[in-house]
This record gives sequence, C-alpha cells and structure tokens, in this order.
Amino acid sequence: MTLRFTQAPAHVGHWIDHQHLPGSGASPVFDPAQGCVARTAASATQADVEAAVASAAAAQPAWGELPPLRRARVLFRLKDLVERYGDDLARLITREHGKTFPDAQGEVQRGLEVIEFACGIPHLLKGQYSDQVGGGIANWSQRMPLGVTAGITPFNFPFMVPMWMAPVALACGNSFILKPSERDPSPSLLVAELLQEAGLPAGVFNVLQGGKTAVDALLAHPQVQAVSFVGSTPIARYIHETTAHHGKRSQALGGAKNHMVVMPDADLDQAADGLIGAAYGSAGERCMAISVAVAVGSCADALVAKVLERARRLRVDDGEAPGADMGPVVTREAQQRIEGYIASGLEEGAQLLLDGRGLRVPGREGGFFVGATLFDHVRPGMKIYEEEIFGPVLCVLRVDTFAEAVALINAHTFGNGVACYTRDGRTAQAFAQQIQVGMVGINVPIPVPMAWHSFGGWKQSLFGDHHAYGEEGIRFYTRYKSVMQRWPDSGSKGPEFVMPVNQ
Ligand code: NAD
Repeated sequence: MTLRFTQAPAHVGHWIDHQHLPGSGASPVFDPAQGCVARTAASATQADVEAAVASAAAAQPAWGELPPLRRARVLFRLKDLVERYGDDLARLITREHGKTFPDAQGEVQRGLEVIEFACGIPHLLKGQYSDQVGGGIANWSQRMPLGVTAGITPFNFPFMVPMWMAPVALACGNSFILKPSERDPSPSLLVAELLQEAGLPAGVFNVLQGGKTAVDALLAHPQVQAVSFVGSTPIARYIHETTAHHGKRSQALGGAKNHMVVMPDADLDQAADGLIGAAYGSAGERCMAISVAVAVGSCADALVAKVLERARRLRVDDGEAPGADMGPVVTREAQQRIEGYIASGLEEGAQLLLDGRGLRVPGREGGFFVGATLFDHVRPGMKIYEEEIFGPVLCVLRVDTFAEAVALINAHTFGNGVACYTRDGRTAQAFAQQIQVGMVGINVPIPVPMAWHSFGGWKQSLFGDHHAYGEEGIRFYTRYKSVMQRWPDSGSKGPEFVMPVNQ
C-alpha cells in the first residue's frame, strides 16, 4: 500500500468525497524549527463548505443505517493503520507544530486510544428496554445519529484532538467534517487517507482547510447538526453562542491556566520533576500544561530551587533532534506573545529567575524558540497569572495554607486541569472534593482522562453541556429516541380520551 500523505504535500488542500482538492488561497504553513514557510494551505470558501456538507449529507444516511458492528470494523482497521503509520503522523506533527518527536508519538498514542474506545460502539449504543409497561406494551430507548457533524480543532494537537471527535462521531453513525488548524494542517490529510484505506465510504469524513470563513459557514449551515470545538476561550465562547443562535448543539473547549499545589509534606523531587515535564513539555503549548505552581507553607524555597536547577538543564532544539526536551513554539507571533508576557511579568514586579527570551539554537537561528522561563513571587492580578500564556513560562505563587491554595484556584476564571502533590490521603481527598476544576490529578501532573472517561474543564474552559469523548461524547453525537410498541389483537376497542396510565 502506498499512501500519498505520509509526506506533507507542497500545498495542503481539502478532502471531499475521498478526493484531495487544491481549493483556493495559499496561507503559509511554517516549519517552526527553521522559521521558514514550508508549504501552503487552502482556505475554504462558502462554496467549498457547501460542497463538503453536501457530500457529508449524501453519505450519512447509508453510513448511519449500517449495523454499529460494521461501523466498528472500519474503526478496527483504522486502529491498525494508525499503529502502522503512527510514526509518519508523528513526523508530520513535529515538522509543523514543533513538539519533539517522542512527544508527537505520545500524542498519536492518546488519539489511538479514542479509536480503540470507539471500536466498542455496539455496546456503547445499547439502549434500555422495559417490557410490559402497560398491557402488552414495551418501551425502549435508543440513541440515534445526528447527521452531519463538524469539528474545529486547535494547532497544539493536530492528531489527538481530531481523534477526540471523529472516531466517536463516526462510530455513532454521523458523517464528520474536520476543520483543522491552519497552522499544522498536514496530519488531517493522512487521517483522511487512513480512513479511506480502512473502508470508510466516500463523503463520511471530509476535511476543509482554512479559518474563520470556513468556521462561520459551518456554524451557520442548516445541515450541520452539531459542532465540536477545541481552542482558545474567546473563540470557544463565540462557537457556543453562534451554534445556539443557529439552533444546533455544541461542545466548545477553551483555554486554561492549570495550577499544581505542592503541599509541605510532598516529595519535592517528585513534585519538581512533575512540574518540569508539565510546564515545559511541548514548550508549554498544551491545554493541560501546568503554568502555575502553588507552593504551600514552608516548601516554597526548596521547591523553587529544585525547579530552577532542572529548568536550567533543559535542552531546547529542533523537535527531531535526539535528546531535545523542548522544541520551538508554533509561530513567530506565538514567540512574540510569550516574550511580551515575560516583559509584563517583570514590569508588574514578579521575580524572573530564568528568562527564556532571545534563545538561539545553533543551526536553527531562524526558529521560533523560547527557553524555559521561571517566575517566583507571582501574585493574583498580574497578567502572567490571570491570562493564558501558552508557552514555556511557569509562575510560582506562595501561600500559607491548603485552604488558601484551594480558594485561589477556585477564584480563577479557568478550570481545566489541576494537580495536588501530597503524601497525605485526607488532604488529597479534600482537594479532589473541593476544587472547582474539571480534571484533577493527585500526584499526577497532567491528568488527561483515559478514552473511556471524558475530557473537559469547568468555568471558562468549556462551553456546553458535554465533555469530549467517552460516554459524554456518545451522548453528544447522538440523540435520544424512545419507542413504545404493542401488537394488539385485531379489532379496535374504540378511542380513549384519558391520559394513558398503567393500571
Ligand atoms: P484558536 O482558538 O486560535 O484556534 C482554534 C480553531 O479555531 C482553529 O481551527 C482556528 O482556525 C479557529 N479559529 C481561530 N480564530 C477564529 C475565529 N475568529 N472565528 C472562527 N474560528 C476561528 O486556538 P489555537 O491557538 O489553535 O490553540 C490553542 C488554544 O487552544 C489554547 O487556548 C489552548 O488552551 C486551547 N486548547 C484547549 C484544549 C481543551 O481541551 N480545553 C485543548 C487544546 C487546546
């Protein structure tokens, strides 16, 4: 089998009806390690969106009527193919996103796990049945596909986040249109090609490249029934409000500011290692990155010293370089935004212990690099504390008590992920109970739920009722139907005018 898109094409077009279409527009896609334009991508027009939706709407009924087991078999084959082509996917991710190759392999694995979950769709779609709810009457419930669904995804997980959506939507019998980030669009074409190889009928999975024009046309399109979104908070809110206006459902996952509380009884070496990986892995461009360490009581000085010592040793390089801990950030704008936050932290009086600005990587002088950055004595109200930086910047806040740490986090506008490092079971229990955040780690720095649980934050980190994937995803991508049935003897008893009751 020879696949076209294991290598990124010179121009990344749309994918409709199993065809790669060049489309119009040519927005630049960068190699962030080199800092140069590597290829171009199409920008979908209203007409492209119409074509993708028409194709998805035509293909969906037959797909939705297939027995769930047969849909599952396509996903089983996709699972095999992702295992086989996982390193190709990871290489595409590293070259356009910048994250290290092992980190990209981890992303592929976490996406694969949702495909594995969706392979169980016959069981997941099982309804509920009540016999004899009235004389000879049965009542059952079943979950039906919605029709055409769409997913709009961010740059930071160009494979995993589409996999939070598409396998579940498809397994439930929907067609799915993916609008990936314009910054790293190439993995979307390999995913489309793998689905074709897996036996998915044409039109059931389409891809549209582009930005706001494509998104707005999908949000307004009367045949698009549901929209999944993952990205920044302002756009998540916009997606949620706009889909509501158009009478369709959405799940819109937004930004984050994830805290890690370190209690005085914690193993400080474990906590420091957890912080380093969670704050600086993927150059901080993870929605579950820890960007705030909350040092409780007496442990602050020792913790800061351990983090600083480790952060100084991090190796920043091209994501494909063996031994690199961090790659570049995604674009020049991202680099400038992060450097602007570092400057604002200094202006607002935080103590800058390690400054990642101006980092030059030999042989990659044009790359969009920012080194590990560490602030101490950060306080609420500072921009670097209140806003999402989305870069390799860790802020340390010091508080006296556990209660203060909990109150601090609960007052923050974001509520995506959080962690607490402690050796005390009662502290851990109280933390998990009291904290107003959607995903909680106890001595686990990045508590991304497994595929059969569901992913989502609280407060400004998620708009909508359902978290992503897991059973929440099944509910999001289906609608509930209740059926009552009886097979009476022949002959009518005449009309009944009172509310039917079970006597
Ligand atoms: P982004 O909001 O800029 O873009 C996300 C998607 O929205 C892209 O497909 C983009 O093309 C589209 N988009 C951008 N501007 C738009 C507009 N004005 N109108 C309509 N569509 C628009 O996000 P990003 O920079 O690609 O990703 C980083 C952000 O995503 C961070 O805030 C991060 O926390 C968040 N994120 C959240 C989660 C989560 O699960 N909560 C997961 C990953 C990333």
